[in-house]
Amino acid sequence: CGIVGYIGKRDVAPLLLEGLQRLEYRGYDSAGIVIAGKSGGLKAVKAKGRVRELEARVPKRFAGTTGIAHTRWATHGAPSDENAHPHLDTEGKVAVVHNGIVDNASELRAKLEADGVVFASETDSEVITHLIARSQAVSLEEKVREALKIVEGTYGIAVMHADFPDRIVAARNGSPVVLGIGEKEMFVASDVAALISHTRQVVTLDDGEMATLKADDFRTYTTSGTRTTATPETVEWEA
Ligand code: GLU
Repeated sequence: CGIVGYIGKRDVAPLLLEGLQRLEYRGYDSAGIVIAGKSGGLKAVKAKGRVRELEARVPKRFAGTTGIAHTRWATHGAPSDENAHPHLDTEGKVAVVHNGIVDNASELRAKLEADGVVFASETDSEVITHLIARSQAVSLEEKVREALKIVEGTYGIAVMHADFPDRIVAARNGSPVVLGIGEKEMFVASDVAALISHTRQVVTLDDGEMATLKADDFRTYTTSGTRTTATPETVEWEA
């Protein structure tokens, strides 16, 4: 339902929780957050219910400057802690937040399970995580691209990978994704409401478009890898 992500220099958890609160008006049944920890590795917290309940579960020491977060409106699998996003792979290296519906999820899940993958949730979204985690491609962008090639349905996604802590990769097909361009910091969201208090320079992804966000740089390209031009637009917004 709602996505917000950040990469920059600031402490990320409070920023993301604030972003999730700004997405609350859209409705949701659970929420979650994952950050790249200071000493490497990803740390995730999830909770059924309100963003306030998620906030209560975030440990005191939850320091990091890169993270992604989600409010879920369940389509596949009941509202629960386990089914809340982000979805991590078994090693805890890949984290995905997803808006939309993976139409061929049960088929992909059956194939992955036959290969020995153990799922942690009942969601359609989790297949995307395992496909990315199992890709042999060298770059994160290529891993995501390979996964999306076999995923059918709608998605707005944001992806983090412990081996690529300097970036967030996002992609859009039928579910909105916007980038917020700041000063040595970047945002990604499903809705400008989540980032408008930080920047008004916004890039809207098209269907079939992907993006790589680094703290001081961003680029957009098609799902087949061709660079696209993305000129930030200034969003006018009445608070
Ligand atoms: N289909 C996914 C799920 O049920 C994502 C739902 C959403 O867009 O929040 O977890």
